[in-house]
Amino acid sequence: MVNRKGPGKPVVDTDASMGRLLDGVRRFHAQAFPQRRQLFRRLARAQQPETLLITCADSRVVPELFTQTEPGELFLCRNVGNLVPAYGAALGGVSAVIEYAVMALEVKNVVICGHSDCGAMKALVRPETLAGMPTVASWLRHAEAARSIVRVRYPDLDGTALVQALVEQNVLTQLDHLRTHPSVAARLAEGRLGVYGWTYEIGTGTVAMFDPTAGRFVPLETAASKSA
Ligand SMILES: [Zn+2]
Repeated sequence: MVNRKGPGKPVVDTDASMGRLLDGVRRFHAQAFPQRRQLFRRLARAQQPETLLITCADSRVVPELFTQTEPGELFLCRNVGNLVPAYGAALGGVSAVIEYAVMALEVKNVVICGHSDCGAMKALVRPETLAGMPTVASWLRHAEAARSIVRVRYPDLDGTALVQALVEQNVLTQLDHLRTHPSVAARLAEGRLGVYGWTYEIGTGTVAMFDPTAGRFVPLETAASKSA
């Protein structure tokens, strides 16, 4: 909030949560930035990320943390439910991010990452909770195919198991949508792009990747130990 009471008063009046953010910014400048000064100096001129990662806006999902990547490595697109509208269904921010990442930045991989306890997936299970949120309800129609698949494949699931089934199916449905984007379709046809479906488990930190051969999500820790 801007303080307009005149000279001598702080320019910005903040509450405790904003104060915490501002303290973080000060620590970043004093400690974290100097440690990566060379990296930031190089990044100031250009970026060359090799991966576009599309994930949920959820505050508990921190891709740089669970992939242990540095600034400049992940081109990120975040939205409610990690949705990718099929090409032409909604030519907006997500479509532009995909096209720019693939055509201009020439990323080598696109990862769509869902996560446990996703509020968007829970809302799909209980759409009545979206009363008063017409924009969210409208956005979630891009996950409608995932809901209909889960409904016929797992008619007996409920609670957390149902939400998790939807989290996983939604990643696969959004990968289908991703492939409808002309830039992605062309690069896939050329064999120059890999597309991957991941899930992130908040409580355990486990990342699982969809294995098309096995037809299921396999924890990466398991996959790594098998190949070792
Ligand atoms: Zn979510």
